[in-house]
Amino acid sequence: MKYSYSILLILVLSSCASENNKTQTKTAPTPTPKVSKPVIAYPAYQNIKFITGQFAPDKHPDFRKIPEEYTNKVNVYLLEETLDAFIQMYEAAKQDGISLIIKSATRNFDYQKRIWEAKWSGSRILSNGLNAKKDIPNPKLRAQEIMKYSAMPGASRHHWGTDIDLNAFENSYFEKGEGLKVYTWLEANSEKFGFYQVYTAKGEERPHGYEEEKWHWTYKPISKHITAYCKQAMQDSLLVGFSGSDQAESLKVTDRYILGIHPNCH
Ligand SMILES: [Zn+2]
Repeated sequence: MKYSYSILLILVLSSCASENNKTQTKTAPTPTPKVSKPVIAYPAYQNIKFITGQFAPDKHPDFRKIPEEYTNKVNVYLLEETLDAFIQMYEAAKQDGISLIIKSATRNFDYQKRIWEAKWSGSRILSNGLNAKKDIPNPKLRAQEIMKYSAMPGASRHHWGTDIDLNAFENSYFEKGEGLKVYTWLEANSEKFGFYQVYTAKGEERPHGYEEEKWHWTYKPISKHITAYCKQAMQDSLLVGFSGSDQAESLKVTDRYILGIHPNCH
């Protein structure tokens, strides 16, 4: 009798244990299925207003004024991350006896519109000596000529706070003497700091877009995400609000100019 009682007790206990197990299984959190959502890097910069420069850099919380030792302009801004990376590159260049100076950085829509319309109206002569209005009355050809070196407002990478123009606006400066030393140093070192030349020589790798600009460098860790967004969301019809904007579609500004960059910049 005593023996069978202990068997009964064991049976009861083991049944309780299995109930506990069941209860634990029931309340254990169900694993959430793994859905691979694309990670959007820098989401704040992935909108049409930002990429077309419709904001004031001095009022944008992510932008910083470039300290005067790094630029020959006043009141020029960059995204803080771009500026920090530039300062590191500047210091490394200085150690090697190379002087870098920012000649232009963020330009918003209004700023770019002033440059564009000055060229469009002939009040600013093009770098090849032409008066765009008098010498090129055909609006498509005129826009095309200006776009050898200048972007339409809304279509410039200078809106993004990731792109800088360094030292001089002439390729010839970078092809001899001091300028050649600067360019050789940049070619060998800029990528370590995240900077890439956007408008390399035209050719198989870059058949369309602006002419070569040895002075224009982009901070790729951020700009590659904005470029990817442009590929998906930018349209020529969004380029409005300035003289000559009706030429944007026939010149395929988004495909040929905004995206007409060296493949390394994607
Ligand atoms: Zn530039």
